[in-house]
Amino acid sequence: MVSSIIVHGGAKTISKDKARANTAGCMAAVQAGWSILTGGGNAKDAVEAAIRVLEDNPTFNASIGATLDSDGEVFLDAAIMEGKTYGWGGVAAVQKVRHPISVARKIMENKSMLLVSKGAEQFAAERGDEMCAPSELISDEQRREWEEQEAVLDRPATVGCVALDDNGLLVAGTSTGGLANQPPGRVGDSALVGCGLYADNNLGACSTTGDGESIIPVVLAKTAIDFLVENRHPQQAAQMAIDKLASQVKGEAGCILLDHQGQVGWAYNSQDMAVAYMTAKMDKIAVFTKK
Ligand code: ASP
Repeated sequence: MVSSIIVHGGAKTISKDKARANTAGCMAAVQAGWSILTGGGNAKDAVEAAIRVLEDNPTFNASIGATLDSDGEVFLDAAIMEGKTYGWGGVAAVQKVRHPISVARKIMENKSMLLVSKGAEQFAAERGDEMCAPSELISDEQRREWEEQEAVLDRPATVGCVALDDNGLLVAGTSTGGLANQPPGRVGDSALVGCGLYADNNLGACSTTGDGESIIPVVLAKTAIDFLVENRHPQQAAQMAIDKLASQVKGEAGCILLDHQGQVGWAYNSQDMAVAYMTAKMDKIAVFTKK
């Protein structure tokens, strides 16, 4: 078993002028998580830290810079799961929290549950999480694209992270602003255990991205992990999960996957996908916008 971490910045189209921001953002997130893993921290801390870096970066559709719904508002979903006790926590349709992944983490440490809207915001405020005005999450770029109703090809997408620590703990986390122009009240897959993320210490852990309405019926994260049986390599398992989604429900999606040994896999059927990873076997971070 080797400690490992992988992050994604979403299955999407990445235009040339946004490639560098995507790779730099994913590398910064891996660095944040990796320094925790190598400093003796656990995979829960590493996943939370990496996703907080991505949530702060307007290149991605999570917290700051999230896409707007059809009413011009931002609503955030996030969840985290660990593979030892199968504990998990999630938030959906929240507006006033700066780091939904940290609220999800606190829910997981308290009692596994998915909290939505005001209840999640109240939980966050009571536990001293960083709160904000909903407008603080809206970037100039996302506001302009919404106002002009531009047909944008390279919109930001969901973020996620999977990590394995020295003790064999596997953790997955995902954070998103949902789909651009989604109807008010729509919640996708990202905060749903089995769909947007899953972790099982015996097999592996996975975070997904893409069309939530296609990911949900395929239970994409759990499906990818189930393909790890019989020591299948995570590269092959990730590809099989995406192929299954494409053949059963069409739609675009991507996933990142670690197995219980820390081997890495990822696959997508969108145009591009921003991914970076690091393992104890490597001497520098690998980063991609395409496979
Ligand atoms: N899966 C997210 C959702 O459907 C969107 C994304 O991954 O870009 O809400």
